Amino acid sequence: RLPRVAFIGLGNMGGPMAANLVAAGVEVHGFDVVPAAIDAARGKGVAVVEDPRDAVAQAEVVLTMLPSGKHVKEAYAGTDQRPGLLSAAQPNAIFLDCSTINTSEAVKAANLAREAGFRAADAPVSGGVVGAEAGTLAFMVGATEEVFAELHPLLDIMGRRVVHCGDAGLGQAAKICNNMILGVSMIAVSEAFVLAEKLGLSDEAMFDVVSGATGQCWALTTNCPVPGPVPTSPANRDFTPGFAGALMAKDLTLASNALDETGVDAQLGRMAGEIYRRFAEGEGAGQDFSGIINTIRESSHP
Ligand code: NAD
Repeated sequence: RLPRVAFIGLGNMGGPMAANLVAAGVEVHGFDVVPAAIDAARGKGVAVVEDPRDAVAQAEVVLTMLPSGKHVKEAYAGTDQRPGLLSAAQPNAIFLDCSTINTSEAVKAANLAREAGFRAADAPVSGGVVGAEAGTLAFMVGATEEVFAELHPLLDIMGRRVVHCGDAGLGQAAKICNNMILGVSMIAVSEAFVLAEKLGLSDEAMFDVVSGATGQCWALTTNCPVPGPVPTSPANRDFTPGFAGALMAKDLTLASNALDETGVDAQLGRMAGEIYRRFAEGEGAGQDFSGIINTIRESSHP
């Protein structure tokens, strides 16, 4: 039997994730604060409740998919205006946060749940809205062995790849480390294409060489920032995401915060964060993150 789920946060990601659980026969009670999200989830068969505490009272797994760590903490512990989910849950419930938040906030959220007598895990995702809808997300899980084993069947419904990274907080650690590589490598690939163009090299020749050489990476061979060599990459459709610049800027800010907390001297990771935060202040927020190549072209000498 699959565990009963309270699903808190039915937005772009949470809505389709909850719908996939329902379609697989999981008993899901959902809650959101925004009427449009509630209506969309209801339309996909999610039983929506007026008070999240009603959902949580029946749940074996309390899954949150919220914008930031502040939202997760307030949902768990409550605010002056409303009580939190921790005061409504069943004994032995698992608090599973799938949002992307600071690693230190993830550890704090798990500790809040554990101090209240519950079990806790973090399982941030990659794969975007397309992956949420198709049930092909990748989950990076921070949990004890026991909790990981209990959650695995649920995560398998919503995702295609489920990796146990260690105890609570380490799912977030894996996610931001991966995205720090991705941010840096996309900038590196884009800079190299702009330089190649200036030197007179065609995009196609540049791609043919680098995709079979030591510069090869996902940013080049799957999400190529120039149109042509990889017909499915966002550059071929005017940089429609894909993975939006605003989300890359968010994840690199989380990475920068972790760098500050650990004292790690990651100069490229920090600089990638600055570059993407600037990108996301303008049109880049809604473009695929590979659109960073345009800002490199624009700020280069003619
Ligand atoms: P979203 O803004 O579409 O959804 C968040 C939902 O949470 C909203 O519907 C909002 O109304 C709701 N919410 C806020 N406070 C709440 C509360 N107290 N109780 C109940 N609901 C509340 O965001 P999203 O795109 O679904 O992203 C969710 C998380 O997943 C974020 O942490 C994001 O970084 C991460 N993520 C997103 C993507 C993506 O491609 N969109 C990919 C990977 C990870």
